[in-house]
Amino acid sequence: MAQGRKGKLNYRCPRCMMREIDMDMLYDKDKDEYYCLRCSFVGNEKEVKRLNTQFRDKYRDRVIRITEF
Ligand SMILES: [Zn+2]
Repeated sequence: MAQGRKGKLNYRCPRCMMREIDMDMLYDKDKDEYYCLRCSFVGNEKEVKRLNTQFRDKYRDRVIRITEF
């Protein structure tokens, strides 16, 4: 699904997820990297996907969404 505004896809920041914060990452098209404004995590799509998958496997049973900052 194309979104346009934030990048090709919306990814959650894996580092923030580990702190139970649901934070969308922004996309830097010059560097082809995703970055997080909250914790300054930076990674390319592959890295973000890998970490997100890792996170889901590890914390499958505790999905907590926090939308207020
Ligand atoms: Zn983050």
